[in-house]
Amino acid sequence: MYVVCEKHLEDAIEEFVDVYEQPPDIYMLDDVSFTDWLAPHKCDFCDDIPKYLVV
Ligand SMILES: [Zn+2]
Repeated sequence: MYVVCEKHLEDAIEEFVDVYEQPPDIYMLDDVSFTDWLAPHKCDFCDDIPKYLVV
């Protein structure tokens, strides 16, 4: 699972496909409700505010 900003969405998709050999589902973070874990505050690839969840 990756949490990424707009800039790094492509990187996250590529990495996901490399690892899992299937295309990920992509969600806008705003549309996802976080229950037992807090919404992440930074992109997995940089320090920007994340916008997408790649799972
Ligand atoms: Zn980023």
